[in-house]
Amino acid sequence: MIQHRFEYRAPRTINEAVGILKDAGSDCAVLGGGTWLIPNMTFAAHRPKVVLDPKHLGLASISELEDEVLVGARATYADILRSQLVSTHLPLLASMASGITGGISITGQGTIGGSACYGNPSSDVPACLIALRARLRLRSTKGDRDVEATDFFRGSFATTRRPDEMLTAIILPKAIHSARWGYYKLKFSTGSWPIMTAAAIVEGDRARVALGAATAIPILSEATLPTNASADELGDFARFCAIVSPHEELADELAGPGYRRRVAHSIVLRALEQCRGAR
Ligand SMILES: Cc1cc2nc3c(=O)[nH]c(=O)nc-3n(C[C@H](O)[C@H](O)[C@H](O)COP(=O)(O)OP(=O)(O)OC[C@H]3O[C@@H](n4cnc5c(N)ncnc54)[C@H](O)[C@@H]3O)c2cc1C
Repeated sequence: MIQHRFEYRAPRTINEAVGILKDAGSDCAVLGGGTWLIPNMTFAAHRPKVVLDPKHLGLASISELEDEVLVGARATYADILRSQLVSTHLPLLASMASGITGGISITGQGTIGGSACYGNPSSDVPACLIALRARLRLRSTKGDRDVEATDFFRGSFATTRRPDEMLTAIILPKAIHSARWGYYKLKFSTGSWPIMTAAAIVEGDRARVALGAATAIPILSEATLPTNASADELGDFARFCAIVSPHEELADELAGPGYRRRVAHSIVLRALEQCRGAR
């Protein structure tokens, strides 16, 4: 049970919502699926004075723009998995969503927007959004502000979202038809939290890899990779992607920096090897 008193607001318009955020600032928490927010309020680890529920604002839809797909901030992992647009144009995103653990209560309630705003470095979402060149659309009373995923994640549980802003959508360029992709995450068991993630996309001879949870912010690497790269060339590129600055290494209850450093190359390599088989 949540012990502290708070005001629950479920505005009918986006303007009303950003007005509430402007007035309340960091005293306000926007509710996504609540899979992190509600337990943390229950344990009194987070005590917002206002909870803003955007359920009436129509932010759960997934729609097609010309060369992009717009995923509403309140789209759940299940919505992503059901979406034909995602499976056709963003198979890497679908692959990531299919591996979220916790059963239907998490996949049916947890939102991609909530995960992005939470900024947990060992979540599946950050590296995936960076590899996919996503933009995050933030709304305040001043209007919309689009932030590249590479600039959005600023550290462990830290993003560039200001307290007066809410995330309304994530916009992702459609993958080109011939793109190949791979997603691999290291976990202790099927149901456990990822220790490290690697999201890879190969378009023609250009490869783009985001390595998650080696550091607080995913590491992005891009390079030219021959279309029929040999095992040695793939291994060299994987090693290049897995170089981690010792000053930024991540240590948490799942693994220390030494372990992460040792396995990083293999995680990237497995994602790259999947690219060979994908599509
Ligand atoms: C049992 C279990 C298993 C899990 N397994 C995985 C897993 O395998 N991989 C993984 O990556 N994650 C996993 N998670 C984490 C889960 O994916 C995240 O908790 C979830 O995505 C957060 O989304 P949410 O919609 O529930 O966010 P919420 O809990 O509602 O919110 C999280 C934070 O984001 C803020 N926020 C939410 N929406 C917005 C918005 N639109 N604008 C601004 N701020 C916003 C909230 O105020 C809060 O600070 C698991 C969680 C549980 C409990």
